[in-house]
Formats: sequence, C-alpha cells, structure tokens
Amino acid sequence: MAPPQIYTSPYPSHPIRSTSVWTRLFASRDASADVGGYPGSLPAFIDADSGATITRAQLVHLTLSFAYGLKHHPNTSPVATRGSTVLIFSPNSLAWPVVLFGSVAAGLRCTLANSAYTRTELAFQYSDSGATLIMTTEDGLSVVQEMFAEIGIAKEDAAKRIIVLSKDLRWAGGPSAPRSPASNGLLKMEDLLDRGKLDQEEKFEGSDALETLYICYSSGTTGKPKGVETTHQNMTTLIDIVSAPFDLRAKGTVMLGILPFYHIYGIAKLVHAPFCQGCPVVIQTKFEPEKFCSVIQRFRVTHALVVPPVLVILARHPAVDQYDMSTVRYLFSGAAPLGAPLAKQVKERLLAKRGGRGDLVITQGYGLTETSPTTHILEGADSDRKMGSIGKLLPNLEARLVEDDEGKVDAAPGEPGELWIRGKTVMKGYLNNPSATENSITPDRWFKTGDVAVRDKEGYYYIVDRRKELIKYKASMPPAELESVLLSHPDIADAAVIGLYSAKEATELPRAYVVHAHLEKVKSAQAKAEFARSVVKWIESKVARHKYLRGGVGVIEIIPKSAAGKILRRELRELAKREAEQG
Ligand code: AMP
Repeated sequence: MAPPQIYTSPYPSHPIRSTSVWTRLFASRDASADVGGYPGSLPAFIDADSGATITRAQLVHLTLSFAYGLKHHPNTSPVATRGSTVLIFSPNSLAWPVVLFGSVAAGLRCTLANSAYTRTELAFQYSDSGATLIMTTEDGLSVVQEMFAEIGIAKEDAAKRIIVLSKDLRWAGGPSAPRSPASNGLLKMEDLLDRGKLDQEEKFEGSDALETLYICYSSGTTGKPKGVETTHQNMTTLIDIVSAPFDLRAKGTVMLGILPFYHIYGIAKLVHAPFCQGCPVVIQTKFEPEKFCSVIQRFRVTHALVVPPVLVILARHPAVDQYDMSTVRYLFSGAAPLGAPLAKQVKERLLAKRGGRGDLVITQGYGLTETSPTTHILEGADSDRKMGSIGKLLPNLEARLVEDDEGKVDAAPGEPGELWIRGKTVMKGYLNNPSATENSITPDRWFKTGDVAVRDKEGYYYIVDRRKELIKYKASMPPAELESVLLSHPDIADAAVIGLYSAKEATELPRAYVVHAHLEKVKSAQAKAEFARSVVKWIESKVARHKYLRGGVGVIEIIPKSAAGKILRRELRELAKREAEQG
C-alpha cells in the first residue's frame, strides 16, 4: 500500500499550550499590560441596544465573582463542582461572556444550546449532556420550565437549577429593566455577583488541559445530534492557529457579534479570538437587516462574521443604502459555502457607496464543530484571486483527501477526496458515544469531515461536495432528527429529509419526502398537495424554527433505500432537482 499523502500547513507551527481557556484569555503575560496583554480599561464587550460596555478588567472581576457565587450560593454550590456541566440557553447578550467565562473559571463544562429550541429538543440536550444547571433569559423561562416538567423534575427542584439572565443591565452600568413575574423567586445572574470573588480560576494545567470544556451538539456524518467534547487545549490551540490569518489587532478594530454564541463558530471567533487580540465586540441579539446596518453605523464596526444568507441581504436589502457602512473593512463568512458571485456583488455594492474608495475584504473560512471549528481560512490578500476557495490549511494541522472509507486510497493531486483532518483542534470525541467517535476518528487520530474537497497546486482547498447527511439552514440539523419527528405523525408511514439548495437565499432548505400510511387517500395531485401542506404546518408545532420544512414536502409512494435500509438521499436530491426544473 502506498504511504498516505499527508498535506501540511504552509504556516509556521505554534507551540501547544496546556492550560485552561480562562488562563489563556485573562492571565497577563506582559507586565506592562493588565489583562491578556492589553489594557484593562479597553472595552471587551458592548451591548448594541444600550451601549452598556464591559471592559477587560471588569470582565475578569465579573467572571471570578460569578464563579465564586456559583461555588458558594446554597442553590448552586452542591452541583457547581469542577467537571459538572451547565447548559446555556440564551440568545447573544452582554451576560453571555460573564456566565460563560464565570462557569469556566469555576471549572465547569458548558453545553451551549440553540436558543430557538423547543422543550423537547432542550430536554434531549439537558439530559444527554448530564447538565445540572441551566442559564436562560426571562424569555426562555417557559420553555425551560416545560422542559423540566417533561423530564420529570419537580417544580421546586427545577427552580434550584435555573439561573436567570435578566434584561436588567445595571450590573454592567447599563439601564434597568422591569423583571418578568415568571422569574420571581428564581436565582438571577446578579445574585451571584456580589457574594465574593475567587482568588484565582480553576487551573487546567498539563494533562488537565485535555478535559472537556464545551459540549456543542452536532450530527456528525449520520444520525441524531451528538455532544461534541471540545477540550481546553482544543480551544487554546484554535486561538493560536487563527491568529495570523484572522488578525484583529489593528487599532480601531471593532467586531460585530451577531452570529449565535451557542455555536462553536460564534464562541471561537466572536468571544475568544477578538478578546485575545484586544478587539472589542458589539453584541447584537438578533439579526435584522435594518438593525445590522444601524449598529454598524453607530459603533463604527470594522469587522463582521457572517453567513452567506446575510451576504445575500447585504447584496440586495434597501437598508444598506440608508446607513453609513464605510467603516466596514472585513466580512468573514463561514459555516456554509460562499460562492464568488455573491461575494463580488456585496463588495461592489459596498464599495460603490464609498465612491469606489477604501479597503474591503470579503472572505471565508471552513470548519466543523468537531474541529473547534476552523481548519481553513482564505486570507484577505487572496480573497479576490481565490474567492470560492476555503483557503489554506491552518498551522499545526494536517490534511488528507481520501477516496475510500478506510483511508487506503488517496485522491490524486487536484482530484476530489473526503477531507480528513489531524491536529490538536480535533475534538476529544462524542460524549458517551464511543461507537460514533470510532466511526469518525481513526485509530491514528484522523477526523473524517464528511466533506469532499479539492486542493489546487498552490495549496488552496475547495469544498466540492458533502458525503454526510447534514442539512444547514441557519444552524446545522441532522435529517435523522426531523425524520423521527415526522414518523411520529399518525398518517406518515415513512419519511426522509434532504437539504435543497436555494441559490436565491444562498442556503439549503430542509425538504421532506413522506409516504402516507394510507396511499389510497393521496392518489390525486390535489390530495397530495393538501397533505403536504398539512405536514409543513404540523412540523411547526414540533421543532425549532430553523427546522421548519421551508423546502416543502413531497408525497411519494416509497422512500428509496439501499439493501441495508439506508435512505438513498442522492436519489431524493435528484428527484428534488427534477421537480424544481419542472416548476
Ligand atoms: P457545523 O458543525 O454545524 O459547523 O457544520 C460543519 C459543516 O458545515 C461542514 O462539515 C461543512 O459541510 C459546512 N461548512 C462549513 N463551512 C463551510 C464552507 N466555507 N464551505 C462549505 N461548507 C462549509
């Protein structure tokens, strides 16, 4: 057998650290600087609505105070012990970095849940991750309380497990807000801030740096969502390896934090990396085109992380013409493919507004929850010439492009193969799921991404296909999860879900194919259409918004399957394509 074709990174390697993320972010390595190499008075995070700001020094104080509160408050102290898990269920807010890093300083693991989850989706993550505490907003409380009822935890016990992140920002010098009656009697984040302060964070030195820090959920290549165990060392390594191609150190750099912090992409690129590079982040809770543009104008935002559908809005929405967007120098797209035409359209529009003058980079990166996440970044200087590429492999990583499942055959140079990644940012494994871990990480630690890539002669990679089942609309979703919900419908005998690419929206839309339990009832085209509409409506009461069947429902007689019973999704994708062509 020929030796494997292993590609290395063109960037110089970084020394690997063995320390906690908290220590890496906040400990001063330079005597002249206060926090992590930058003045403590520098703003760290800013609330886009009120302008309330926490500085770097305040964040250290707040997180050590919160950690102390967790360890000493009678509600939380029995469960907030080193290595226990807290679930954060909240849209982006100024409280996020405080509770996240406060929990980390206390030595807890954090599992981050999509803030749009229904009680059933949340119940799965809460139970599967083994969480013992949950932090949520006043708006999220009813879902959390219903979730506790669903998993059979009595109201009084549930109340001791909840910490409410209220809209009252007085703890950050921001405006006060009335409290919702639903949160009466529950522990508030602020209640944990004024009891004392830890002398120092929990340490994760040496081999302890391999302990789990975050548990985000991903479907991997197949099946239901699985908890991805991301370690301290995974994240400290990521901070270092993105630092050169994702450089935020220039004076005056301001990042817009709009992508969800519950996704590892948000945490790594909006919470960790900017803090480490002394760049303030303006936190916006929800994406609305008008608000996005007005926040850019108000805070003179220079950098923003986006996903392709946001770029579609920047290419077309009238709000873009109403605000001053001239401060924007860098738009970094991730999580899904960004095509060259869309990037070009946005660039031309934004530059035209400035009379064609000024710098603007629109570029992209690639990665997965399982790789903490980024493995490739297209550097700004290459972004016009190589747009459409995910860029070069980041330092300290190795890559292979393989043709078969076992990795016996490597793709010839320039030919497509499944991208395999090896390095210190590859997750520890899937939580309590050794067989899924074994299926995705080889004994010599190669992680199989499930994406098919091509590498050109200059070392730039292009994602050309996806071998795995995953669907992306706003967030990732495993089709198996939607399929099992569909199968609980009394009139559905079988179901399969695929992602349908919409060029107009620059995203995939989940589309289901279902088989009616009584085929004779859906013989006519009209009956099929009515049933399809009813399924689209029905699913809306069962799942989070991003999983709605925006790609519609097709009623068919049989779901194509392999001899082993595996859904032949490629056939369904082809069927969807034919249907679209026929209008
Ligand atoms: P997640 O774990 O939710 O971050 O999803 C990871 C998946 O998103 C990858 O395996 C890819 O299929 C997809 N992805 C992320 N970034 C890109 C990109 N720049 N181009 C194409 N696909 C991407």
